[in-house]
Amino acid sequence: MPSTTPVLIGVLALQGDVREHLAALRAFPGVRAVAVRRPEELAAVDAIVLPGGESTTMSRLLVTFDLLEPVTERIAGGMPAYGSCAGMILLADEVLDGRPDQRQIGGLDVVVRRNAFGRQVDSFETDLDVEGVGDGPVRAVFIRAPWVEKVGADVEVLATVPALTAAGRDAGEAAGRVVAVRRGGVLATAFHPELTGDLRVHGLFCRMVREAVAGRR
Ligand code: GLN
Repeated sequence: MPSTTPVLIGVLALQGDVREHLAALRAFPGVRAVAVRRPEELAAVDAIVLPGGESTTMSRLLVTFDLLEPVTERIAGGMPAYGSCAGMILLADEVLDGRPDQRQIGGLDVVVRRNAFGRQVDSFETDLDVEGVGDGPVRAVFIRAPWVEKVGADVEVLATVPALTAAGRDAGEAAGRVVAVRRGGVLATAFHPELTGDLRVHGLFCRMVREAVAGRR
């Protein structure tokens, strides 16, 4: 039964809000969550979470810690992955407004724009309807977030920014932008569900991981 399949999920722990993701994942029965800093640790996990933080810093540290190649290979080989914010940037096949030396893990056929929301709505909160997480809006926290500018043929759009932010402000150019996507076992959100206590996005990812692991056994 997929709902009881025990799984081991790693959180890439080079930089960013690692503890928050570990805590969110550990709330689910049957899910073990561990920090991943070394290739041996990566090899042991069933899935990986790429946290929010700074994608350029994380990309540099991925190279330093000899993790860029193995994590890229595992995701290309079907290991489920979830990226929030900077993690979404790392998973994107193409980044706009990145740094020239910024490296990608890739695996998600989307084009994202880094720091897309600009100065006006640089960091903000809004309520989003997110496909696949059950009823009721998800409070989404955006912190110097990317948005998705282009999605590939097999990529599902799970959420877009509504016309008004939670503070009642006009979302302007941000309205309608794609901020949550999924393709097979790869999930990405421009916002940070790990910061709000609403665990439904992590719940969706845990279900995806269980399905992948159950299918393998
Ligand atoms: N702006 C950051 C970057 O480029 C992402 C911000 C975040 O993860 N909160 O990586």
